[in-house]
Amino acid sequence: MTKYGRIVHERFTLAQDAFGDMNDRVLETIAGIRVVRAYVQESAEERRFAETTEDVYRKNADVARIDAQFEPTIKILVGASYLIGLGYGAYMVFESQLTLGQLTSFNVYLGMLIWPMLAIGQLINIMQRGSASLDRVTETLRYAPDVADAPAATTQAPPATITFCDYSFRYPLSAVDNLKEISLSVRQGETLGIVGRTGAGKSTLLRQLLREYPVGHVGALLVDGVPIDRVALHSVLDWMGYVPQDAMLFSRTIEENLRFAAADASPARIQDVLEMACLTADLEQFPNGLRTLVGEKGVSLSGGQKQRIALARALIVDPHILILDDAMSAVDARTEAHIVQAIRKARTGRTTLIATHRISAVLHADWVVVMDDGRIAEQGTHADLMSSGGWYQQQYLRQQAEDPVDDVPDLDKSLGKEVYA
Ligand code: ADP
Repeated sequence: MTKYGRIVHERFTLAQDAFGDMNDRVLETIAGIRVVRAYVQESAEERRFAETTEDVYRKNADVARIDAQFEPTIKILVGASYLIGLGYGAYMVFESQLTLGQLTSFNVYLGMLIWPMLAIGQLINIMQRGSASLDRVTETLRYAPDVADAPAATTQAPPATITFCDYSFRYPLSAVDNLKEISLSVRQGETLGIVGRTGAGKSTLLRQLLREYPVGHVGALLVDGVPIDRVALHSVLDWMGYVPQDAMLFSRTIEENLRFAAADASPARIQDVLEMACLTADLEQFPNGLRTLVGEKGVSLSGGQKQRIALARALIVDPHILILDDAMSAVDARTEAHIVQAIRKARTGRTTLIATHRISAVLHADWVVVMDDGRIAEQGTHADLMSSGGWYQQQYLRQQAEDPVDDVPDLDKSLGKEVYA
């Protein structure tokens, strides 16, 4: 039974792994169903799915095969015990070493052992399956966080200054430094714009504040003079509101998504952030307004709508430090400029960091850094950078020629309609 138990454990683990892989595959295919259709990959996906299910079937059949051996093995052993008992017992009765009564009671007792033997076999079988499943769960639960709190981490109030001192950083899987010798300081209440070509390191710079990776190996990142890795993780994350480019919405109503981190926000507050994120006009078009379901991962919304809802969700919390990581890439330039202006107005005294590929979104930032290949290539205010004749100026002129966005008028309630008309 122990031997069988060990085999059940091994095979059941493989079968569960295969089942997990199949689920992952199905989930991914459903999430990417539009891509599958667009590339006419339905039959290829079907074939791959058939292979995966075949694998699950084979591995479960292996488990069933060993499972089916428990009972016959026990029955054969019990049968053999009877045979030995009766044969050798009869011999002993003939030899007068045993009375017939003793032989009969021996056989009765032997009969009583059959059921417990079968039960123990079943027990071992079930326990080994349970322990194989438990191993998989514990593996996930025991996963140590990539970034843990320092031993004497402190809780701190939102910082008045964030300073990068000659800071370099490399992703664990990267062969080169992804941030190089960054020196930068942001004071509370300021808006920092980060621009640069794709892959220049804009997101990497912002992610340093989210503590997703261990801090850089050279230089320091200080919040009010304290290295950020000495501050408790939950404290750092409490200050931040983060809106990434790929807005993640839950398959609930728009209102539930907005209230995600602010369950008790007042209706007036919700209206405020909807206006700030230029969503009022869109909501009028939705069948159930705020109660409209966004579908799985927001499938029923456009990219720009998803991004603006994600933005409104962050604005509702009014975080001390708001990080917009190309959060309006799918929104048109004019609307983006309006949103940025509304955010600026609403967030006096609070820090906002905006990474974007559109210069028009950082025209009013207190400081703008231009990233290139992990370094700060240029920095200054819009006016400084426009007079320096570098990448910033060229990019601004090019973008203005393509899609002119001058200083936008003040945000008013008819804005959405004007923009989407
Ligand atoms: P940007 O936001 O300016 O488009 P990123 O900060 O996302 O650029 O990327 C900067 C560089 O870091 C790129 O070369 C990218 O390939 C690399 N990079 C980004 N994320 C990772 C990661 N998780 N592991 C390794 N390298 C990464």
